[in-house]
Amino acid sequence: MAILEIDCPVCGEVLELTGEDRSELEVGDAIVCENCNAEMEVVRNEGQDFEVELLGILTTCPNCHQEFDVTEEMLAAAPTVQDGSGQETSLVRCPHCQAGVELSFEEQPEDQLGT
Ligand SMILES: [Zn+2]
Ligand SMILES: [Zn+2]
Repeated sequence: MAILEIDCPVCGEVLELTGEDRSELEVGDAIVCENCNAEMEVVRNEGQDFEVELLGILTTCPNCHQEFDVTEEMLAAAPTVQDGSGQETSLVRCPHCQAGVELSFEEQPEDQLGT
């Protein structure tokens, strides 16, 4: 069965969808990148055509533990800060409790999973 590969628009991770996965997806459904939690909406799923559109990055607020989507607009408007190691993070605001949440989008090697 053909496997469809989609590059995550945020982290570049290749997401693999089997024919079975695709048959269960409908336009308007969302798929989530396992690497960076980016959420993508299926905008087209016909025959050879499969297209997704970035919705946002699903984030859990460390303060109130509610999930929210960080959209591209939010990222564009977010100030970036550097942490002690010089790594850049974007500072967005939780829509639930207004806490500042730092996000970083470094491409994570597999060996960092789970830490
Ligand atoms: Zn990703
Ligand atoms: Zn919050």
